[in-house]
Amino acid sequence: MTVVNGVNDIPQKKVIDGFGTRAVHIGSDPDSATGAVIPSISLSTTYKQDGVGKHKGYEYSRSGNPNRNAFEETLASLESGGSFALAFSSGSATTATVLQSLGPNAHIISVNDVYGGTFRYMKRVAEENQGLQTTFVDLEGADDATILTAFQDNTKLIWIESPTNPTLRLIDIPRIVSLARSHPSNPLILVDNTFLSPYYSSPILLGADVVMHSLTKYVNGHSDVVMGALILPERHAALATKLRFLQNAIGAVPSAYDCWLAQRGAKTLHLRMKAHGINALAVAKALSRSPHVQEVIYPGLASHPRNALASRSLSPHARKFVESLPTDSEGFPYGGMISFRIRGGAEEADKFLTATRLFTLAESLGGVESLAELPAQMTHGSIPPAERAALGIGENLVRLSVGVEETDDLVADVEQALEAAVRK
Ligand SMILES: *Cc1c(COP(=O)(O)O)cnc(C)c1O
Repeated sequence: MTVVNGVNDIPQKKVIDGFGTRAVHIGSDPDSATGAVIPSISLSTTYKQDGVGKHKGYEYSRSGNPNRNAFEETLASLESGGSFALAFSSGSATTATVLQSLGPNAHIISVNDVYGGTFRYMKRVAEENQGLQTTFVDLEGADDATILTAFQDNTKLIWIESPTNPTLRLIDIPRIVSLARSHPSNPLILVDNTFLSPYYSSPILLGADVVMHSLTKYVNGHSDVVMGALILPERHAALATKLRFLQNAIGAVPSAYDCWLAQRGAKTLHLRMKAHGINALAVAKALSRSPHVQEVIYPGLASHPRNALASRSLSPHARKFVESLPTDSEGFPYGGMISFRIRGGAEEADKFLTATRLFTLAESLGGVESLAELPAQMTHGSIPPAERAALGIGENLVRLSVGVEETDDLVADVEQALEAAVRK
């Protein structure tokens, strides 16, 4: 092969590395001035110009900052099918910015058991202050005709979360995409991909228009940064520009330090997600074996009613990982979140939650450390009891965020806490 000036004169197909390689390398070039392999944290709020308007791409840190730009590049490459990424100061600020972009008098269709903060923003902020109406629909269980009746001429957005929280219901994303495309309003499809992370699910490859993340959870993964992001495919360059304008105009931007930390976290996302999945499957199997457990909800379990959909909707890289594992008739890794109903009620649940040695009783999820909580009184405590009951969030429903500790230690911890919970 002839090489001219170090470049092959035969056009080369652009190399697209695997997920883990992208996580480590994209957005992480060595510093051209110093050679530093790890970027410095760029705290400057302003940038010297060589002449008026002549600068190196940075003017003021709200509009752009080396750490944020680099991390946005990482995020765009990790969310498969993504081309543009925008980082925000929290998942909630991300939600707010997306809903602001819809303009006045728009209508939204949202999955009915959407994240509590998203529900609150839709009802108490967007509806009360911006005139946006949201219809909440059971996008898992409702038939096509029922979902289509929720559409209006001004429906501009469908908000999907899958799996939902805390009952881990799975939405068939391609099905919702094709329903949306069949309606004249042709709304955008947004998927909040926080629970599965870009490792287990690639909604853009399933037809979604926008993916959002609370990076606070798995992407940062170390429970020390609050941050959010949007990722869009190439075909939505105009929408990305509009959102970029709002990101700067609204100013809910993350700090350089948080971007630096979250980028460091994201470099091990693939390693952590594999470990979360292997551990969660082992814990889910142990819970299924226990006489003290009434029901285990983990979509990776073969016994889960939507297990086939979980399998079908795996990202290409997660599928490769799952297929590399020894065959297991009981299930496959599918993220790190499990919910289960302990036999008994509030008392047994409370005893379980205070008897664990390694699972810390706390809200949130997605960090390397295992956490456990009682949704009815903690994360979902603000939902009225009747609605909570309708969503299946009883007093005996426990949610686990399974961390990356040793598998056997976590299984033993859950087993001893179940014994302690039923002891009289
Ligand atoms: C945590 C979370 C959010 C909100 O993100 P913050 O970073 O806490 O503002 C949104 N969606 C889901 C699914 C979440 O778990």
